[in-house]
Amino acid sequence: MKTYQHYIDGQYVDPIGKEWMDTVNPYTGKAWAKIPKGCAKDVDRAVLAAKRAMTEGPYAKMTATERGKMMLRLAELVAQHAERLAEVEVMDNGKLIAEMRGQMNYHPEWWRYFGGLADKLEGSVMPIDKPDIFAFSRHEPVGVVGALTAWNSPLLFVAWKCAPAIAAGCSVVIKPSEFTSASSLEYAALTKEAGFPDGVFNVVTGLGPDAGSALVDHPDIAKITFTGSDATGARIYAQAAKTMKRVTLELGGKSPNIVFDDCNLDKAAAGVISGIFAATGQTCIAGSRLLVQNSIKDAFTKKVAELGATARKGDPMAADTNIGPVTTPAQYQKILDYIDIAKKEGATCILGGGPAPDLPGGQFVEPTIFTDVKPEMRIAREEVFGPVLSIIGFDTEDDAIRLANDSIYGLAAGVWTENIGRAIRMSKALRAGTVWVNTYRAVSYMMPFGGMKHSGIGRESGMESVLSYLETKSTWISYAEGAPANPFIMR
Ligand code: NAD
Repeated sequence: MKTYQHYIDGQYVDPIGKEWMDTVNPYTGKAWAKIPKGCAKDVDRAVLAAKRAMTEGPYAKMTATERGKMMLRLAELVAQHAERLAEVEVMDNGKLIAEMRGQMNYHPEWWRYFGGLADKLEGSVMPIDKPDIFAFSRHEPVGVVGALTAWNSPLLFVAWKCAPAIAAGCSVVIKPSEFTSASSLEYAALTKEAGFPDGVFNVVTGLGPDAGSALVDHPDIAKITFTGSDATGARIYAQAAKTMKRVTLELGGKSPNIVFDDCNLDKAAAGVISGIFAATGQTCIAGSRLLVQNSIKDAFTKKVAELGATARKGDPMAADTNIGPVTTPAQYQKILDYIDIAKKEGATCILGGGPAPDLPGGQFVEPTIFTDVKPEMRIAREEVFGPVLSIIGFDTEDDAIRLANDSIYGLAAGVWTENIGRAIRMSKALRAGTVWVNTYRAVSYMMPFGGMKHSGIGRESGMESVLSYLETKSTWISYAEGAPANPFIMR
């Protein structure tokens, strides 16, 4: 069994406490490697290395253009190693190899995009309204960044966070999910090969309340970027306030997929299924609420249920599998609990509705669909993070907007309509960070991504994301001659 080490200051090192923990393949249910069970001392070591990198040595002296070239080299190395990294991700999170391979082949684009941006982060010279002053602003890196990632797409989140952070000139300490740490540890070797100076990219593994919390508390971390549940996000937000850290929070959702009777029903059905059953429903953007116009509700429900019933469960490494195992035992139990809650609340189960027996690992759930769901039921309001769809009918566009926005979350929404006016009205009215019209579950390095309300704070990807890793400094230079100005009034 492979034993991993932390990656700190350009080297693989044992955890200071000499403790490791198992990382388990959810498909086999068996441990396949050991990862360090890091503690606050490991975090401190990594943060100090990251701080040194920003203040001394080659990284501190690097031009933005050199930084960008280094990032482009990493993009090429990730492309070369995409298959291996995708396999490591599948061994840890049980998601389909087709999905993880797709993510890893696309992943280098974040490094290319932000590598290209590194030397274009210009400040401004102001045509200042005061005499004899030269005034300009410049962007400076915010400082050492602590990145906490979730288990569903570990390396995608590394790219989403680290590419803009390093474009901005920050160094990073990553604490991946304790369930899926191996890929980030293997990935670190590529940063060395790409020429990242020691201390720029560090990975410390361990439990959230230990290593994760120590990162949030560390006084030399300037910013936390977090992907995970809203409960943990809220805790981290409060904790980070004590040391006045900047935060970006990418949290959960209860996203509506809204189907109007004027849409292409086949495409909409495929979009609804992809929204809830892809990745076994373990995506923050899961379209877990299907809002369907009452005029087509029965026919469309039947179509969705028939398509959902074709999903093949099995080995995530097999090309013809559609649904893999749930990633962790706790998540598996949580999904089954929500299925029970929905039944007790009076929703009608028309597909699945329980564990899928006779599959390895003991962590498969049947793709599940509930009808007769009322907006006030827990199954319609709380994030399940599993393959469980709730169907709710609506009559008018206004009803759809009201139901869709009646949520503490606001991560994403899907709209299915052939009416362009309706598409534009809906995209404006929905309180969600992303609105997809006649498509679902699309992301890009150039498109801002993030949530409104309890779905988070800030945006990742797209040019604006780099600003959250920068501080703006304003400089005033007086070239006035003659007598000093009156010291008792503001200039
Ligand atoms: P989680 O909140 O349990 O853990 C996320 C990370 O935080 C892990 O690295 C964990 O170790 C760490 N952590 C846990 N407790 C901590 C603490 N007290 N202090 C510091 N760090 C701590 O989330 P998860 O179960 O790994 O992921 C699932 C959740 O993530 C879902 O709610 C999902 O919607 C959300 N998610 C959001 C996005 C997005 O981009 N908006 C993407 C994927 C997943």
